Amino acid sequence: TCSADGKQWSSGELLPYGPLPMYPSAQALNYGQAVFEGMKAQRSAKDRIVLFRPECNAQRMHEGALRLSMVPPPEELFIEAVTKTVEANAALVPPQGKGSLYLRPLLVGSGPILGLGPAPSYTLVVYCAAVGAYFKGGQLTPIDLIVETRFHRAAPGGMGGTKCAGNYSPVLVTQLAAKKEGYSDVVYLDAKTDTYLEEVSSCNIFVVKGKTIRTPPLQGTILPGVTRRSIIEMARSRGYTVEEVPVSVDEAMQADEIFTTGTAVVVSPVGSLTHQGERRQFGAPGEPTPVALELYEQLTGLQQEKLADPFGWIVPVC
Ligand code: PMP
Repeated sequence: TCSADGKQWSSGELLPYGPLPMYPSAQALNYGQAVFEGMKAQRSAKDRIVLFRPECNAQRMHEGALRLSMVPPPEELFIEAVTKTVEANAALVPPQGKGSLYLRPLLVGSGPILGLGPAPSYTLVVYCAAVGAYFKGGQLTPIDLIVETRFHRAAPGGMGGTKCAGNYSPVLVTQLAAKKEGYSDVVYLDAKTDTYLEEVSSCNIFVVKGKTIRTPPLQGTILPGVTRRSIIEMARSRGYTVEEVPVSVDEAMQADEIFTTGTAVVVSPVGSLTHQGERRQFGAPGEPTPVALELYEQLTGLQQEKLADPFGWIVPVC
């Protein structure tokens, strides 16, 4: 925890999982000062537990906290909290290749305040749970996406670039409606022109044509995914041309393949994209498309230390 002047972050303690005591007037509950991260610890082929680029998550939380007028925890404290949580829960980490320990660092304006203003104090917690594949059917099962035409996820100048709690409840209505119709998730379009892809509810999106891979640029309306950034570097190192440029729905419908990226979804091939009643199928039904498969194998190989890590992304914990 920390007071609003940001000078007194206490180093924290390990507690059994349970309720967080908070006043009804806690800032986060009323005015939404809450940002979080999603990370994974995995048991690697070297029989140790490793994290993937944890400093990127620390930095993203730092930037999100500043955007919400919160006091960001020092990077060392963030890393220490995550590391200690992993160490204390090492027994929960699944065997190598069988899943991971999902970690949720959460920063909230926990202190009470009645009028609109920043919280007088802040709390950083990290909790965790063992997880398997995010989408139904396993990690490489192609997902079916529908382009959302009614709601937007973020507006220019808004909060789309931060992992703040408030970004996630507005997507439930669209996500649940899409799932009811048999889709895995929705793709959002830009709020200005309704023309360009932004991202999916919990992952970034890439469109492949030949050896060129395109992904929407970071202009404050989509989350700067750690996986997105890693896949851009990795694909370039494997000879692909990767462009961060606006990608229209029409271009996506004409692509060779589409995939999404995120800590939870890893690299998920898109099996179909539906827009205004028109459905485009990618690859053979049930089969991952080739570029998504290649990058999935490379990324998970590196994350599980089955492949070399030329980028220095792996951080061993214990
Ligand atoms: N977009 C959104 C909206 C997300 O919630 C996530 C998951 N954090 C991502 C993209 C992917 O980010 P990352 O690769 O850092 O998990």
